[in-house]
Amino acid sequence: MTRQPTITDDDIFALLGAAAEYDGRRVATADLNTWQQAANRAHWTYDDALDAIHEHYTHHTEWIRPAHITQQIRRHRAQPPKAELPALPGAHAHPDHRDRIATWARQQLQLDRETRGDRAQQALTITCPTCSAPPGDQCWRVLPNGQPCRNDLYGKPVPPGTRQQITDPHHRRVQLANN
Ligand SMILES: [Zn+2]
Repeated sequence: MTRQPTITDDDIFALLGAAAEYDGRRVATADLNTWQQAANRAHWTYDDALDAIHEHYTHHTEWIRPAHITQQIRRHRAQPPKAELPALPGAHAHPDHRDRIATWARQQLQLDRETRGDRAQQALTITCPTCSAPPGDQCWRVLPNGQPCRNDLYGKPVPPGTRQQITDPHHRRVQLANN
């Protein structure tokens, strides 16, 4: 059974933006990914998740995480429906506001990506302490011996011990090069 996606990228951006209004977070790629994951797994809807954010910050100062939203939504759904309450009054439910914070969150993410890109670029100027890739070379990993061979892009088996380039430089290389 396939389910309709219940939440869009724009929804996630708007939710992150709404959370940022409370806690001043910078929206980062990691947030986007974890929130998307959680939203899809736990079948958030935009309205429920937004409500959960407001509810959370009514009672807590701790930064909201996806698990808080999921818990809140579950609690909410377990309650008998309130008769005919108007859905989410207030500025946050307004489409203009939603678009504005979604746009803002997107810009934040773009900045985060650029910063990360710069840091990754900088990492390539030194030898990697993890995999010893020389300056200018991308990091790589060695497919372990004794493991079943993986297939390359074209479906050909790759022998054990083969070096594989990885997209992101190793964490320690990034750290070292940017300090
Ligand atoms: Zn490396």
